[in-house]
Amino acid sequence: MNTQNDQHSILQPVIDDDIAQAANRSRKKLVRRPGTIGGKLPWYDLRNAKLWRHAAQSVFLLINIYICMTFYYWVRFYETGGNSTFVERPAGIEGWLPIAGLMNLKYTLETWQIPPIHAASMLLLIAFLAMSFLLKKAFCSWLCPIGTLSEALATLGKKLFGRHFLLPRWLDIPLRGLKYLLLAFFLYLVIPMPVQALQAFLMSPYGLIADVKMLNFFRFIGETTLISIIVLTIGSLFIQNLWCRYLCPYGALIGIFSLFSPFKIRRNADSCIDCGKCAKACPSRIPVDRLIQVRTVECTACMSCVESCPAKDTLVFSLTKPKGEPGATHSLGLSGMAVALMLTLILAGTIGYAKFAGHWDTQLPEQFYYRLIPASQQLGHP
Ligand code: SF4
Ligand code: SF4
Repeated sequence: MNTQNDQHSILQPVIDDDIAQAANRSRKKLVRRPGTIGGKLPWYDLRNAKLWRHAAQSVFLLINIYICMTFYYWVRFYETGGNSTFVERPAGIEGWLPIAGLMNLKYTLETWQIPPIHAASMLLLIAFLAMSFLLKKAFCSWLCPIGTLSEALATLGKKLFGRHFLLPRWLDIPLRGLKYLLLAFFLYLVIPMPVQALQAFLMSPYGLIADVKMLNFFRFIGETTLISIIVLTIGSLFIQNLWCRYLCPYGALIGIFSLFSPFKIRRNADSCIDCGKCAKACPSRIPVDRLIQVRTVECTACMSCVESCPAKDTLVFSLTKPKGEPGATHSLGLSGMAVALMLTLILAGTIGYAKFAGHWDTQLPEQFYYRLIPASQQLGHP
């Protein structure tokens, strides 16, 4: 502990130079965030939201790798006519069927009945929407495996090239609209569908094994898809969150729900020393240092801004104004641990309910799988 304190005292004058200069420029007295060096908490400090976020991302990524591998072996069992090792179908694969989730949501809203096929895809979609309704787009930066891989590529890109490349505003703004166009396209397909058509699609051979079709899409990948993935992967090294920022329709939907989130990033302009570290740290390029509340659909609740702020009770992810602002005696700011806990509770609660109510596993007689899975490549869209 002493060694750590010694390190703090040796490093602090050097690292904090720019913070001290910012405080001087703003003519405000800087009250430091407790435990910080250069405005930041050490990575291993349990108060550091980044530690919890990276832990949540890693666990969710590993769970998804496990789900995909198990699902592959489950598919192989039926493809080989039962001549390979049997594994249980991982119901979590339904999280990869957002269109089926959307169709089932529409079906449920119209009939008030939970559909028998791919019900978990709808329940997981509802859980992710509930997260954004409460905690901005936390799903994107805390749980989504694609978001995690995007972030890893951006970090690697920064190591290789020394910086992230930014598109000019005239290109950035229209490109950000692309994800809404993709979302509008999917909503246009699903929303006008009558219940009978939804039912016919989901109960068709294609709908019954939509999860297998999705796996096959990547197993027997087409040239265009492969080129697109390679371009996106290389592009993500240069442009931070390329897929999430410009193209992800799921993120677009979640972003719309996030507008209603009562928890927001809030800044106390009185204690802010205008150092600009929050805006610099924001992967979504939000000018946090110039806002009192971050309301935009682009905020993913990653808390990178909060973790880079050197001033105590100045930047918080909270329900109310930061402590110290006129009329604010308590700060209801969330710690990283609290966000991780809330996300876990929403997800575990949804899965627990789905299991308890019998909606977690799609119950199809085995002979369907024996018949449909080996022929899955020949099944076309109904
Ligand atoms: S405003 Fe803060 S929480 Fe929101 S995306 Fe930017 S850094 Fe993350
Ligand atoms: S809110 Fe932003 S600009 Fe203000 S002190 Fe914190 S990091 Fe610096």
